[in-house]
Amino acid sequence: LPNHTSVVSHVAADIGGSLAKVVYFSQEVGRRGSGLEGAVDDAPAEDVRGGRLHFLRFETERIDQCIEFMRELQVKQRQGWAQAKDGKRRNKESELCVMATGGGAFKYYDRIKERLGVDVVREDEMTCLIQGLDFFITEIPNEVFTFHEDEEEQIQYRSIESQRTVYPYLLVNIGSGVSMIKVSGPDNFQRIGGTSLGGGTLWGLLSLLTGARTFDQMLAMADKGENGNVDLLVGDIYGEGLGYEKIGLSEKTIASTFGKVFKRKREAERNAEDGQNLGKGKTTDEKTHDQKKQKITETPVEAEVGDGRMFNPQDISRSLLYAVSNNIGQIAYLQSEKHNLKHIYFGGSFIRGHRQTIHTLSYAIKFWSKGSKQAYFLRHEGYLGAVGAFLKRQP
Ligand code: ADP
Repeated sequence: LPNHTSVVSHVAADIGGSLAKVVYFSQEVGRRGSGLEGAVDDAPAEDVRGGRLHFLRFETERIDQCIEFMRELQVKQRQGWAQAKDGKRRNKESELCVMATGGGAFKYYDRIKERLGVDVVREDEMTCLIQGLDFFITEIPNEVFTFHEDEEEQIQYRSIESQRTVYPYLLVNIGSGVSMIKVSGPDNFQRIGGTSLGGGTLWGLLSLLTGARTFDQMLAMADKGENGNVDLLVGDIYGEGLGYEKIGLSEKTIASTFGKVFKRKREAERNAEDGQNLGKGKTTDEKTHDQKKQKITETPVEAEVGDGRMFNPQDISRSLLYAVSNNIGQIAYLQSEKHNLKHIYFGGSFIRGHRQTIHTLSYAIKFWSKGSKQAYFLRHEGYLGAVGAFLKRQP
């Protein structure tokens, strides 16, 4: 929360299926961080228009903490006005104005209104998303970047000037689900598609399969994983023969996500059965010999069969992160072809500034378009809608 000398004019919340994103503006630099459980400052504040924009997020499931945060902001706001020179002017105008968008703006409307005792202004989700993106593109330096795997500077920021002529473009917003929107201008856009295999899918499946407790833990696991242990690769199918080169694929190309799991499980079960049958009808010496031999050939994976943990959670995380990102990248490319769009922006909290996700999406666009299309990313990728709602009322 800002300290008592700063003035907060209004706050905006974009309450989605997974996360509630909060943006507020303070006119003097306040202290960062709220001390409130559940509030996470995960994006740098920005100095704009004589003040600072702050970005926070909460799990939507903990919406009460989000509302409590806004209530504290409201209290500080009143104190700020009371201490400001024109404190006498404390009237309705100086009350904190609350803007809300996303599904939660409807679902939690009554609750927010009741707790804060103010009017909550609801704004259209898609409009906010596009206007938030337009603001980031045209007003925040070092916000938009492209990813270049083979260059020394992998992350390259775009100048604001170079971004002004970027319409029309495709916005791919990867939240719980995925929306694809054709944008012809700040007020001219149309939702053209999407997929339900999005951030919520990865979050949900990995929580079932890996035991990870947070999204960041899942990403950290994916960093350490080897997807070839669960995915069936082109090289697995073609063997040593290099035949795959004829069809223009690399041996590392994923032929089937999770395609190796069943086979490996079956093998391990067979090995375990063989192990049990090993001793039948043999002398003690022979049994000891066989057991010794089996110890040597038994891989750790086989030893773990039966306890359900024969696949390593890091490998599973990497495989599913690839699967979801590749799938979105390919659908995005096809939509961009269908609608004749050259520039593709990726937003939404799924991306989370994560290198592998950015690399996969960027690679997919480059690969499928044979280098003719460009993927763009944003530093505050999760806050497009919240900023859009915020801008509906100028400070
Ligand atoms: P929504 O508006 O649908 O909530 P977001 O753009 O906020 O969408 O993205 C939500 C997705 O972001 C989650 O489904 C998950 O994949 C990812 N994510 C990033 N950070 C977190 C986090 N701290 N907790 C949960 N999910 C997160």
